[in-house]
Amino acid sequence: MHYADLILPVPLQGLFTYAIPEGMSVRVGMRVLVPFGRNKTYMAIVAKVHDVKPEGYQVKPIAQVMDEEPIVTERQLQLWQWISDYYLSPIGDVYKAALPSGLKAEEGYKPKTETYIRLTAQYCNVTALHIALNVLGRAPKQLEAFTAYLELSHWDEMEDGVKPVEVTREELLNASHASAETLKQLEKRQMLETYEVEVGRLNHSGEYRPELIQLLSEAQQTAYNAILMSMMKHRVTLLHGVTSSGKTEIYIHLIKRALERKEQVLYLLPEIALTVQMMQRLQRVFGNRLGIYHSKYSDAERVEIWQKQLSKNPYDVILGARSAVLLPFQQLGLVIVDEEHETSYKQQDPAPRYHARSAAIMLAQQQGAKVVLGTATPSMESYHNAKTSKYGLVELTERYKSIELPEIQVVDIADLQHRKMMAGPFSPLLLTKVREALERGEQAILFQNRRGFAPMIECRQCGWVPRCQHCDVSLTLHRQLNQLTCHYCGYTYRVPTECPCCGSTDLRTKGYGTEKIEEQVREVFPEARVARMDLDTTRTRNAYERIITDFSAGRTNIMIGTQMISKGLDFDKVSVVGILNADTMLNYPDFRAYEHAFMMMAQVSGRAGRKGRRGLVILQTKQKDLPVIQQVVRNDYTSLYKSLAAERQAFHYPPYYHLVYVFMKHSHDDVVNTAGIEMGSRLRQWFGGRVLGPDKPSVAKVKSQNIRKLVLKLENGIDMKRVRKYLLLAQSQMLADKRYASLQIYYDADPL
Ligand code: ADP
Ligand code: ZN
Ligand code: ZN
Repeated sequence: MHYADLILPVPLQGLFTYAIPEGMSVRVGMRVLVPFGRNKTYMAIVAKVHDVKPEGYQVKPIAQVMDEEPIVTERQLQLWQWISDYYLSPIGDVYKAALPSGLKAEEGYKPKTETYIRLTAQYCNVTALHIALNVLGRAPKQLEAFTAYLELSHWDEMEDGVKPVEVTREELLNASHASAETLKQLEKRQMLETYEVEVGRLNHSGEYRPELIQLLSEAQQTAYNAILMSMMKHRVTLLHGVTSSGKTEIYIHLIKRALERKEQVLYLLPEIALTVQMMQRLQRVFGNRLGIYHSKYSDAERVEIWQKQLSKNPYDVILGARSAVLLPFQQLGLVIVDEEHETSYKQQDPAPRYHARSAAIMLAQQQGAKVVLGTATPSMESYHNAKTSKYGLVELTERYKSIELPEIQVVDIADLQHRKMMAGPFSPLLLTKVREALERGEQAILFQNRRGFAPMIECRQCGWVPRCQHCDVSLTLHRQLNQLTCHYCGYTYRVPTECPCCGSTDLRTKGYGTEKIEEQVREVFPEARVARMDLDTTRTRNAYERIITDFSAGRTNIMIGTQMISKGLDFDKVSVVGILNADTMLNYPDFRAYEHAFMMMAQVSGRAGRKGRRGLVILQTKQKDLPVIQQVVRNDYTSLYKSLAAERQAFHYPPYYHLVYVFMKHSHDDVVNTAGIEMGSRLRQWFGGRVLGPDKPSVAKVKSQNIRKLVLKLENGIDMKRVRKYLLLAQSQMLADKRYASLQIYYDADPL
């Protein structure tokens, strides 16, 4: 009798053994259907085939084999296992994260489509449009929806021969507040019509055209050569190049070289930086040898890419976000992790809480490939590895065309507030500089790392602040939606008109979110066209792309945004960047606050003056004397690194120590409280003083689940295998206790 150890898509540790019925051909990496529990059927992946009969239970047979050939390679399975071990998450969770759902579902997949809206052919001219607008004069709702369409598609400023921008139905509904019924009426009048587009279809156009690759500048060529040198000695090379130094151009040359050597390339970007702008830049050169793997693409497309990568004719270059590291590769020679410092490379929820940079390095090691990590602001970890010669280090200190890095002027808003000279969130200097930029026909970016209208409202009489019923946080006011929102669970509440504690009606908003900034910018600069880029305005991929294209085409003059605007965007005409309030980042209660604040400020600053004249950054803060502010001003990463490194070493933090957070969650606070204490003392038996806590995290309740957190600080070089063994042992001992039957225990290894 033969048996197969299977990976099931369930959050349980370990593999599950099933019997292979006589005559069934089962190989590692194939999908099989198996019964599980009383009446469930799961699609499982074969991890191992053997003839060791499991003892002590009745082995069930595999019901059906789904594949003739494996759809997961043995190397992929090894990587899954590594992720499962290192990040302490069940391998079933890795399987769920890795495989596109079309390959997981029992019935296969349907391509996902999105509904778009356009003018019917007979209304595609100015005369007909005027007639339409006249006719709709008596139907105000339809008129509103119709004009909203014209605006979104830019029909209102159409020049000859230019195609209108495509508008999705959802976008139009959001933008115009129109109802589905109103749109139907416009369709009935045969003014608008709908059409379906498969989501995320790639245009597989074009051949590989190496002749389009730009020549490298002297500085870039030197860096390129240094990378090749470094690759001979090191698996991983860190390319530390200032913003707009042309790192992307260097990657393109590295990719070209890999293709000449018949090697595959994986090019990872943070999700948010995977813009049409970026895709086109690569597609233009690499044409149909480039595949793009994006979580926002249709499942059909992702299944297609997965299968193509297994075929005899795979894409040579894969450009993708985090999960692309989980694709099959046959001949991988080079992995590029662009913006390697980006925290979105780490998956937060659900498990596996893996870091794509670490997984990429493992993948490269497995396949004998080289890794280039690129960034203007390295993570402490990567820079430490470079400084200790674990990684190679290549520095590129000048911008392309030797354009100077922006000048950064610090504005002391504490002083200005004291002298009553602030205009809301704006200092006089900022307003002057933005006005001057607009007069010169240039653009400005205003950065405020809080979305919504105001981070909280407060009763002026008694100090009452509305809080979420399900989470331990105060609520954010969203004025356009006219509601209070919890940014942790998404629950929304009515905006109160009076204080439930004292009855006062004097409720004031506190602080500034991007929505309020936008409102005030519109007041101060009524002639400017203003856009806002944050989670609320970019719910659809389309909306996100539109904000970027409008801004880079100069259709908008001022862009307000959260950290989203700092992500590798390449605009030509931005001459002024305003950082409205550095303090919220600096005061964040986390050991990485300064590291992240520096990155964020250096990256947004990097959007200024990329072409032509030197840019200007106005940095508003109440803590102008903090060393980190001066480090941002001088763009002095080395000094930031030195000061942080000393601190991290002294207090046992990364990169000198490994952190593992142990989280416990339960609906009852007293249960999770005793569980935390008990888990803590269990772990102390083995790990002693390396265990801290339990503590309440800064948000101690989310979605009605109370949370406790233990911190493990582990010296580099400690035997992680044993650490994991003890952690899982403690976990199983805890969960065997009836009191903790519904307790959740999970881990975050190398938390960010
Ligand atoms: P980074 O990735 O370092 O921020 P980019 O690669 O985006 O920088 O380069 C910044 C800008 O300069 C881009 O618009 C890019 O097209 C241009 N650029 C950089 N290097 C070259 C080159 N060698 N030839 C032509 N244009 C270049
Ligand atoms: Zn009150
Ligand atoms: Zn909540």
